Amino acid sequence: MALKKLIAGNWKMNGTTQSAMSLAQDIGDALAGSPALGDRCDFLVCPPAVHIPAVRQAVTKQGAPLAVGGQDCAAFEKGAYTGDIAAPMLKDAGCDYVILGHSERRTIHGETSALVQAKAKHAHDWGLVTIICVGEQESERDAGEAFNVVAGQLAGSLPAGADASNTVIAYEPVWAIGTGKSATPQDVEAMHRFIWEKLQEKLEDFGKMRILYGGSVKPDNAAALLTIENVDGALIGGASLKAGDFIGIAKAV
Ligand code: PEP
Repeated sequence: MALKKLIAGNWKMNGTTQSAMSLAQDIGDALAGSPALGDRCDFLVCPPAVHIPAVRQAVTKQGAPLAVGGQDCAAFEKGAYTGDIAAPMLKDAGCDYVILGHSERRTIHGETSALVQAKAKHAHDWGLVTIICVGEQESERDAGEAFNVVAGQLAGSLPAGADASNTVIAYEPVWAIGTGKSATPQDVEAMHRFIWEKLQEKLEDFGKMRILYGGSVKPDNAAALLTIENVDGALIGGASLKAGDFIGIAKAV
C-alpha cells in the first residue's frame, strides 16, 4: 500500500521573522483552501532556528495541518557547544522533525555519517522524527559510485532503534540540489528501489519507512518524480519558499 506522502520544505538560511510567519500563513491558507490535500499528504516546514517559535505560533493559531522541524541539531543535550542547538530545544520550540546530514552540512561543515548517526540517536531520544539525507556528488555518479556512496551513508547514518516511526530517508543527489537539474525518473526509481532494499535488510518494519526525493523539485516536475514507486514525498528547498509552488508540488502529486 502506498504511504501518505510527506511534502517537506527546507527553508535553509532565508527570511525574517515576519516573512517566515507570512510564508507559513500562506501555506496554511492554501491548505485550508484544499482540504483534500491533507488526506493524501503530510506537510512540514523547516525554518531557520530563530524563526521556529514564530512559525510554530502562526501555525498553531491558524490550526493548519503543518508540522514544523529544525534543519539540524547537536549530538548533545546541553553545554559548551557554541552556536549549536540541542534536540530538546527544538522540541521545546514546537518541532516534531529535524533534518540531519543534509549535503550542505556534510560538505560545508564536514559532517560525517558517524556524526549524523550520533545526532539522530539524540534526536530520537527526544522524540523528534529525523529526516536523514543521503546522496552522491556528481563526480561519484559519473564514476559509477552512486549506489556505493548511498549505501555507505545509510549504513553509517542510521542509529540503532531507527524505524518507520522515527526516521524518514531523503535521497538528494547533491548535483541536483539548487541547480534546477533534477535526477531523471529512471535514476530516481533505481536509487529509491536500492534504498528500499537496503532498508529491508536493515530494519524489521522495512517497507514502511518513507523515502523522500530531493533535488530541484518544482510543480512542473513533481508529478513525474513523486509518483515513482518508493518515492514517498519530497524534500524541497527553493520551491518551498513560495507557498504557491510548495502547495503546487503537492497538488501535482
Ligand atoms: C534541498 O536543499 O534539500 C533541496 C532539495 O533544494 P532544492 O529543492 O532547491 O534543489
